[in-house]
Amino acid sequence: MSVDRCVDCKASLGTRTQETFPGMGVEKRCPECETQHRAKWMATTLPDVGSPEFEGLTEWEQGFVPSIKSQIARGRKVTEPQYQALERIYDKL
Ligand SMILES: [Zn+2]
Repeated sequence: MSVDRCVDCKASLGTRTQETFPGMGVEKRCPECETQHRAKWMATTLPDVGSPEFEGLTEWEQGFVPSIKSQIARGRKVTEPQYQALERIYDKL
């Protein structure tokens, strides 16, 4: 029997009673780290200033995208509303 730990904050995720992904070294995270991890990943896919995709964003998004990218680059955590905005922009690209 083994205990799963979050790969980022090492918090215990409880004792594993069932192997969900047999044979795979799946990285597991607690819900909070999973959110930050996804936010980081989504931010890297968002267009950079000056790219054609960036020009297609709304004025608000053109302000939001560079600021969230630099926030994440500095290692700051993304808030829930920021995460939802990221997801919304990501989904429409
Ligand atoms: Zn964690």
